[in-house]
Amino acid sequence: MPYNSLSEIDAIYNKQLQYTLEARNLSVAKRVAFLKKLLAKIRVEEQAIEKALYDDFHKSAIESGITEILAVEMELKHIIKHLPKWAKDKSVAWSAMFANNKAYLHYEPKGNVLIMTPWNYPFQLPMVHLAASIAAGNTSILKLSEFAEHTNQVIRKILTEIFSEAHVAVVEGAVEESSHLLALRFDHIHFTGSPTVGKIVMEAASKHLADITLELGGKSPAIVDKHVNIRRVVKNLIWAKYVNAGQTCIAPDYLFVHRHIRGEFESIFREELMEAFGKDALNSPDYARIINKKHFERLTSALESAKSLGAQVLAGGNYLEKELYIEPTLITNVAENNTLMQEEIFGPIFPVCYYSQIDEVLASIRKKEKPLALYVFSKDNLFNKHVIRYSSAGSTCVNDALIQIMHPNLPFGGVNNSGIGQSTGKYGFKAFSHERAVAKSIGYPLSAMFWYPYTEKTQRFLQ
Ligand code: NAD
Repeated sequence: MPYNSLSEIDAIYNKQLQYTLEARNLSVAKRVAFLKKLLAKIRVEEQAIEKALYDDFHKSAIESGITEILAVEMELKHIIKHLPKWAKDKSVAWSAMFANNKAYLHYEPKGNVLIMTPWNYPFQLPMVHLAASIAAGNTSILKLSEFAEHTNQVIRKILTEIFSEAHVAVVEGAVEESSHLLALRFDHIHFTGSPTVGKIVMEAASKHLADITLELGGKSPAIVDKHVNIRRVVKNLIWAKYVNAGQTCIAPDYLFVHRHIRGEFESIFREELMEAFGKDALNSPDYARIINKKHFERLTSALESAKSLGAQVLAGGNYLEKELYIEPTLITNVAENNTLMQEEIFGPIFPVCYYSQIDEVLASIRKKEKPLALYVFSKDNLFNKHVIRYSSAGSTCVNDALIQIMHPNLPFGGVNNSGIGQSTGKYGFKAFSHERAVAKSIGYPLSAMFWYPYTEKTQRFLQ
């Protein structure tokens, strides 16, 4: 699909402005009905979604099923089940001074919402955040990434069959279209993408004091203690790192392994890579490709630069430009000032550092920006607790990786440079709602106690 013109974007925006009151007054039952229709339609289109994801970056149908479609279906089912409870007014704790009041929180929709998403999970991310925005009663403009055009087409088809453009609209485009949208006044902007663009979004939001959620990225470390089942940990790490060819925001970005288990760790890693993808991952039906030439060149030049400065490839290391293929790679001795140790890798290259003192590891993690995720593997619970206590991260998984994102009752989000605000489940509903404070006088009004002229009786309130 060609990008939307700027005048088309304005027309969509104006339609949504006019529809705001209608959207905010859709009953919870009607919102649930929309979400049910969306779920049913996604089920019908499953094969088309899988094909589009394959066409965009060679993602296998099973991987798309797990990480894109199932994730959305689970989220929709969870919202459908719990929305009536979440959307109800919530009484707050009793207060003697407000004995003549009924005090409660009322969940009102934010209003007009802009949702901007990246290309790496081009179906899951837009749909999960859109579902929360619909649940909260907003109008939503979904600005999809320009790099996943096949998936974008399926999303557009699904949504236009269910929603009027005044309620939910898709906008396709790149920087010009995004910038145009960001200059408009929205009540909430939900952005998923890089910290660099996140700062642009935050600055644009500040012009209208729009509320924001920023779901960003960063370098998420994984720490492996010497007290582990090495094979189990290696399998966890291989799946978490190489799913979607490493193009996962919460993928372990780089690795600290205890020096004591180095030899065994490396040989098991090679064995398990072979088990996962065969002798040549190029021929594995389960291994995805890099999204485009720009990212392929970014990754391969970082790899070559690390090698030229003395890094040692322990597994993989090959690539093929015409296929946008980079072999699952494990590399060590990467200089701290190399791109691979400074910037989010977002690809299938895994630097490993060997350590003996966990506090030195934690100090080096604290020197970097706060990561989106941090993983720790140990049979020693005190070790795991120590790592959590002396670090900061959006989320953490102990003795596993990535699965924290699947828990329906945990929020998803970063901290500072890796994100602001929380999404998914109840937290997603709350992000797209305004928690309005209501104090309803049901007897003698409290303010009457303060009526003029101020007397000793009034003054007693100050004591
Ligand atoms: P990106 O920041 O380049 O793009 C995200 C969106 O912003 C796209 O829709 C794009 O069109 C738009 N955009 C790009 N440049 C812009 C500009 N100058 N002005 C206005 N809009 C602009 O990110 P990406 O490359 O698509 O995705 C990769 C990044 O996203 C990684 O950092 C990754 O960690 C992060 N990510 C985070 C999450 C999360 O949930 N926290 C999920 C997936 C990806």
